[in-house]
Amino acid sequence: MRATSSIGENPRVALLLVDLQVDFLPGGSLAVAGGDEVVPLANRVASTFRNVILTQDWHPAGHVSFATSHPGRAPFEVIDLPYGPQVLWPDHCVQGTAGAAFAPGLDVPHAHMIVRKGVHAGIDSYSTFYEADRVTPTGLTGALRDRGIDHVCLMGLATDFCVAWSAVDAARHRFRTQVILDGCRAIDANGSLARAQADMAAAGVELIGLADL
Ligand SMILES: [Zn+2]
Repeated sequence: MRATSSIGENPRVALLLVDLQVDFLPGGSLAVAGGDEVVPLANRVASTFRNVILTQDWHPAGHVSFATSHPGRAPFEVIDLPYGPQVLWPDHCVQGTAGAAFAPGLDVPHAHMIVRKGVHAGIDSYSTFYEADRVTPTGLTGALRDRGIDHVCLMGLATDFCVAWSAVDAARHRFRTQVILDGCRAIDANGSLARAQADMAAAGVELIGLADL
């Protein structure tokens, strides 16, 4: 038994488990180093939260974020798209494939919502609130507000893309926003981790650790 009540027991708080999917684990097509280490941490943390939401990267085949969709381009190159710069990725999390499935071992039966993102062929989506054009909503903001949730905690993959972009959007929408940093793992391509941490700090995102929960 806990001596004090955990933050997750508060009905106004939700835990967002970001993109814990096969393709982002070691052996996957866009593997994040140590990504598998997050799964048991997520199970443990989620067991202390009343509100748990899963996000799932969920692209159609031939998605604009895939390097294979741009002849002559290689993964991790950056190109300009109408909505801004886009990092090109290996094909990953294609709708309905084994790589898009949740991580084996993820055990969060009480999660009450799954937000799928990156579903539009021509727009990427790191954030679980908005597609990368910054104007196409996923619907999560309203879903949280409808449930009276005003505080979100995030953990998952990867720190410097989907976690950070989601956290910055949450803070912009005036949710109290906490990222559990040691419950995330990063891709860290071309300085992306340092940039993401700076962006989160500038947006007022609180960076916390598992021990703070
Ligand atoms: Zn993706």
